[in-house]
Amino acid sequence: MSRFWSSVVGELSPYVPGEQPKLQDLVKLNTNEHPLGPSPKALQAMQAACNDSLKLYPDPGSERLRRAVAARHQVQPDQVFVGNGSDEILAHTFQALLKHDGPLLFPDITYSFYPVYCGLYQIAYQAVPLKADFSIDVQDYLPSAGRQAGGIIFPNPNAPTGRALPLSDIERIVAANPDIVVVIDEAYVDFGAESAASLISRYENLLVIQTLSKSRSLAGLRVGYAMGSRVLIDALERVKNSFNSYPIDRLAEAGAVASIEDTDYFEQACQFVIATRKDLVSQLQTLGFEVLPSAANFVFARHPGHDGAALAAALRERSIIVRHFKQTRIDQFLRITVGTESQCARLIETLKAILA
Ligand SMILES: *Cc1c(COP(=O)(O)O)cnc(C)c1O
Repeated sequence: MSRFWSSVVGELSPYVPGEQPKLQDLVKLNTNEHPLGPSPKALQAMQAACNDSLKLYPDPGSERLRRAVAARHQVQPDQVFVGNGSDEILAHTFQALLKHDGPLLFPDITYSFYPVYCGLYQIAYQAVPLKADFSIDVQDYLPSAGRQAGGIIFPNPNAPTGRALPLSDIERIVAANPDIVVVIDEAYVDFGAESAASLISRYENLLVIQTLSKSRSLAGLRVGYAMGSRVLIDALERVKNSFNSYPIDRLAEAGAVASIEDTDYFEQACQFVIATRKDLVSQLQTLGFEVLPSAANFVFARHPGHDGAALAAALRERSIIVRHFKQTRIDQFLRITVGTESQCARLIETLKAILA
């Protein structure tokens, strides 16, 4: 705390991202990056965009990118908002759509940025416990007497559990809460869940957020987008244009459009992760791990005979980094990103040695 700080800044507990160590020969399975690189067409498009036109500001409305997103998800371009990574869109969403009198609802085990944004924007929230099997209980998000929620947000699949809700359950939640905004954060949806984007034309209160960071292997580019009714998109535009009117730079827009248009590469890259995940899960189970069913590009696993923090530390000593959360209910779990086949093989060999 410094006398120069505002009281809000003094009370923040900022989000701590997974580490990005600069070590050689590291098996990095801690931040859910895609093991394969981005679409070669995206790389070419960015190289081609690297020219004299960089002296000009980018398109403040990111028209090309919004049209590409709209075409992919069969929505209208004015139902799309783009931003500098979905984290930025989430920040705008919390400020524009989730700050109301009633508490914002999200699961007790979920993306840990949500409570951070609540702190930044001074939003009251209620963490709703997941069921014992770490799934979301739909009942908890239906209106109940004596509680008026101000909004609802959760990832589908949820993080760090990897568990997904079927689209019919998402629709029940959205339909039952017509007067508040329901945000579905679909950072991992392409690895095995169903997108709620198909519902936005029918539900004015639904906002669906996706990112190019995970399934399109472009975490370094910082591009994400939201899809929703015009009133919701308009609220995000109002915040954005009061904050930073040029979020997507010229290179990022060129790369993002080319990535979204390269459907073949995208589908193959997702299938690769899904197939590798299946093998990883069965190998972990053979070693005695309990693994939650995952629809994401990571698995969430615990070993009945070994402490989670100790396992993460032992892996780290052997140059393998996974994510461990010092949080009640999940402190025995490891969140392990699905890597390349050889990274997964090295993880399994190393775990065998540690458990022996
Ligand atoms: C990775 C992740 C994000 C952020 O993605 P960026 O687009 O890279 O900012 C948002 N939500 C969840 C649940 C994530 O795991």
